[in-house]
Amino acid sequence: MFRLDPRRVPLSAWFCLLALGSSCFFTSATAQAEDLRDLQKLYRAGDYATCADVAVKVAQERPGDEDVWALKIRAELQIGRYAEALKSLESAFRMSPLSVRLRWLGRSVYRLNGQPDRARQMEAEIATLLQQQAWRFGDMQSQLALGEFFLSQKVDPKKVLDGIYNVVRKRQPTFVEAVIACGELALEKQDFALAAKHFDAALKLDDTHPDVHFGLARAFAQSEGDRSSRELARTLELNPNHVPALLLLADGHIDAERYAIASEMLGRVEAINPKHPLAAAYRAVIAHLQNNPDSEVRARQLALSTWAENPEVDHLIGRKLSHKYRFAEGAAAQRRALQFDDDYTAARLQLSQDLLRLGEEEEGWALARQAADEDGYNVVAHNLVTLEQSLRKFRTLEEDGFLLRMDAREAEIYGPRVLALLKRAKATLVPKYNVTLPEPVVIEMFPKQSDFAIRTFGLPGGAGFLGVCFGTVITANSPASQGENPACWEATLWHEFCHVVTLTKTRNRMPRWLSEGISVYEEGLENRTWGQALTPQYRTMLLGDDFTPLSELSGAFLHAKSPLHLQFAYYESSLAVEFLVGAFGQEALERVLDDLATGLAINDALERHCASLAKLDRDFMEFARNRALSLAPLADWSEPELPRRADEATIADWLKLHPNNYAGLGRLAQAQSAARNWDAATGTLQKMLELYPEDGRAGGPYSQLAAIYREQKRNQDERAVLKRQVEFTNDNLAAFARLAALAADEQDWQTVRDMANRWLAVNPLQPAVHRLAADVAEKTDDLALAAASYESLLALDPIDPAALHLQLATARERQGDLQVARRHAILALEETPRYAQAHERLRSIVGKLTSPRNKPEAAPPPPPLAIPLTLKDRP
Ligand SMILES: [Zn+2]
Repeated sequence: MFRLDPRRVPLSAWFCLLALGSSCFFTSATAQAEDLRDLQKLYRAGDYATCADVAVKVAQERPGDEDVWALKIRAELQIGRYAEALKSLESAFRMSPLSVRLRWLGRSVYRLNGQPDRARQMEAEIATLLQQQAWRFGDMQSQLALGEFFLSQKVDPKKVLDGIYNVVRKRQPTFVEAVIACGELALEKQDFALAAKHFDAALKLDDTHPDVHFGLARAFAQSEGDRSSRELARTLELNPNHVPALLLLADGHIDAERYAIASEMLGRVEAINPKHPLAAAYRAVIAHLQNNPDSEVRARQLALSTWAENPEVDHLIGRKLSHKYRFAEGAAAQRRALQFDDDYTAARLQLSQDLLRLGEEEEGWALARQAADEDGYNVVAHNLVTLEQSLRKFRTLEEDGFLLRMDAREAEIYGPRVLALLKRAKATLVPKYNVTLPEPVVIEMFPKQSDFAIRTFGLPGGAGFLGVCFGTVITANSPASQGENPACWEATLWHEFCHVVTLTKTRNRMPRWLSEGISVYEEGLENRTWGQALTPQYRTMLLGDDFTPLSELSGAFLHAKSPLHLQFAYYESSLAVEFLVGAFGQEALERVLDDLATGLAINDALERHCASLAKLDRDFMEFARNRALSLAPLADWSEPELPRRADEATIADWLKLHPNNYAGLGRLAQAQSAARNWDAATGTLQKMLELYPEDGRAGGPYSQLAAIYREQKRNQDERAVLKRQVEFTNDNLAAFARLAALAADEQDWQTVRDMANRWLAVNPLQPAVHRLAADVAEKTDDLALAAASYESLLALDPIDPAALHLQLATARERQGDLQVARRHAILALEETPRYAQAHERLRSIVGKLTSPRNKPEAAPPPPPLAIPLTLKDRP
């Protein structure tokens, strides 16, 4: 395909010329301007047919007016009158044979008339005209057309912005189209904040321009859903036939699995233009997702019926399929797009990301590099190439079909623990769901959140995500990326691995709610502190308007009103899975998954193997209500009607009438503690825990009670309280550490060990936890754990490496691993040459190594690390 070489053409020279060029825009007579304004009004209101018809008359009066012809052609293209548009173009060329603007429009006209060669010729002619007589094209409309042309030729967007758009804006500050062009450029580069700024500026110039509102709708789509919806509605108010806005709505409905409404939107587009390629492409997407291959083929054929090699059609189909986790089908579609146009960078980049998500890394990275070469200003491509370089420094651990990539230092500290967890998840979930996993399953743990985000989404952001699974590739945040309070990585990886199992089983054909529901449910089965617990807030949501019927759970994820609602969608989905398994058995769930794999829709599969949707909705609601009511049934959850600064006596008085008001009791306990009235506070906190024993929040009644007992040096009581609290939390490191210390005083090694393991499951990057593990290992003679702990400590840049090497040498010697033991004794001496104990150790080890009994035997490999504690009690 023709492509301008920006290195050979002195663009800056053109830009200077263009800036000085004459403008014919203001020379039109007033009557002409009025005619044109009327035409523009019709076009903007979406009355394209009338616009085209009126333009015929105006063009007869003023055949040389390029603005009229351009509007006529654009109106005809909007309503699919492609042949007429071609005729108009040819008429217009007779009047303005040297127009670059008509050529730029002509590119689309020829493409949609099945003449791609002529379309390419248009591009070539623009380049030639520019080289020969750039001075002709100084008017603002030509300049905007040239801006788009340059961008299509992958010219540095900054140059286009500074050399064209900003120059036009300076010359004519009220020319809204130029501001819109700046906004579009920012959207294209995914700089949404900048785009919003441009479109806001455009709004001040013209708040009745549908494209301005449409620009705002897209600029706010990621950050402010409400504003975005309002702007989209306003766009369609101003122009009910705004095709891109209708397509965007259809796109959103497809994401939300509301295929019927999406079809309705596409119907509206088809009423405007029955041959719209993208409307037909969306039809193909819906047909694919509804497992309707014949319709899919027909829709794609229609999409390509006007421009047979339109790469955007397959690119769009693939992108939407990938959005639904159908990465293999998505990748195939991008390959088709690239067959049509090997220069179509968007398809190459999407293919690269699809392949990376499928674990086909070699080709995935190569394509990312190629895309970055082709479009040096593409943020995603640039990000991926940078990420690849930092991933090269990662360490890869392989075992049991897993390929685990971690930061090299982190791999030394807790890599084996991650592998042990994954192997345990595999041994539990693979047979349970009766699935064969492809190998390898790739897990990447990122110490930097930004790297995680780029690997996962292509762009920075996504701060709320701990891990993501694409099928057989898992990406996760390591504890290092999570600041002061990391989440339990073991729970995260169990959850993500469960996605690997269910996505493999359904060939990625499952609604998100079911996948998330099963993953959260399985977390809770494995360890009752994992997954999601019912909270007073969820209780209110389950009993109120936030409850979503089982048959509509897909929407709960896609229309979550807030981060809390999204979190609640996970909880409710896991409850739905628990309900389904309880009512119909694990086998029914498995059969539902099998049906999904064949392409059946979830609600059909549920009806086949469980019950009618009406019954499921009814019974699940009942189940959820009962679960909600089971939380602290005697507690009164209403907000106490108390002044904000009520004193202890006032609160106590009020509680006489509302003895079970949980928030009121909380306030009383606080007031009593503040007055150091420990006995009274203890009584109040105990009352709270009688009402709601599962309240394991950090800072909640258990924490407060433990703090009081600590103050009173009542160690036994403090220990008992903490022991109960840790049954309801998986990441309260302060509670784990304190309980471990108290248990150590009592020589309760089992508890110390449990707490060390649970601490490691959250943050293994703290030396203190490895010291704890080493201590308990020494006390209980667990040589493997002792050695692993010393190794982790050594990887954590300790201040006492000599002592640690000696301790490690001792543990390894006792394990019989004499070679490794000797190495560490020598390393201890390297650190501290006159270290008497290390000399003694080395002599002992060497003595054993040279004794004939030891010679022939190679050192046995170190045994695996202790498996972390699992609470087997089920909720
Ligand atoms: Zn998940």
